[in-house]
Amino acid sequence: MIQSVLENAIKISRPEALKGEVASYIPELGKADRRQLGISLFSADGGRFSVGDTKVRFSIQSISKVITLAVALERCGFDRIFENVGMEPSGDSFNSLIKLETCSSHPFNPMINSGAIAVAGYLEPLISFEEMLSLSRKLCRDEGIVLDEKVYGSESDHNSRNRAIAYLLENKGIIQNDVERTLDFYVKMCSLSVTAESLAGLGLLLAQNGVDRESGKQLLSPDTVRTVKTIMFTCGMYDGSGAFAVRVGIPSKSGVGGGILSVVDGRMGIGIFGPSLDAKGNSIAGKKALEYLSEKLGLHMFGAGQKTEGEMEE
Ligand code: GLN
Repeated sequence: MIQSVLENAIKISRPEALKGEVASYIPELGKADRRQLGISLFSADGGRFSVGDTKVRFSIQSISKVITLAVALERCGFDRIFENVGMEPSGDSFNSLIKLETCSSHPFNPMINSGAIAVAGYLEPLISFEEMLSLSRKLCRDEGIVLDEKVYGSESDHNSRNRAIAYLLENKGIIQNDVERTLDFYVKMCSLSVTAESLAGLGLLLAQNGVDRESGKQLLSPDTVRTVKTIMFTCGMYDGSGAFAVRVGIPSKSGVGGGILSVVDGRMGIGIFGPSLDAKGNSIAGKKALEYLSEKLGLHMFGAGQKTEGEMEE
């Protein structure tokens, strides 16, 4: 039954991709085929379902903010992270720096660029990128994750906006170590190449409060996972987080590579790849597919909703 729901999700969502565009502000991402779409769903009872382009490698982009935050919470502690990074949705685009300068002394949350760059600044002196790469492989259960050198080069060459954010953070005393090293760490994490399957693996780990299903090992503490999932729910889809929470009701994190990582608490992890994006930078077909899955599989965090008369007739 899950397999056929996924197949239908792909069928109804694929046309949606034609309404969006692939990200092109990082030129290498502009080469993606916007019609691609894949969904993987790994459930707590061991079920593994994949439909469509689920083995295609693409860059994790902002979904790496989840990994960076989780590792930073474990290494630096909750108080250190949230001393200078907020927990509130910003209502602005993911790469905005306007509120950072005009109405707040610190980034709104760790899921937007300013917050994630601040978190990268805390972590970078404590851990090497190589260690982050191997942790990412472990958390996603995917040994195939590598640094995509082309995306890394392309983003590094077109990184003025994040550079502006990082230097502003230094000016505010939030980044205290080397700004260029922090930026390099951030860009490298965004350039990890994953698949929809690796995201479903990470989603399942988070759904199971940090316990790896195969080995039974606690890879992340339950406190870390709870914080990460809550922030994904309120801030994971940038300035589209509120509407997404109402319509889909699943803690999720998107990236401009076209990925969406979703966590159905206690039940499953879902990974999506669909590089065509809406105006806010979220996978347009991916969002549609998740809305469909939420409805058909009853995945909304707050259960079934009240249907309108029109919807009930369908
Ligand atoms: N690397 C991208 C950037 O910093 C990540 C943004 C995203 O995925 N929304 O702009």
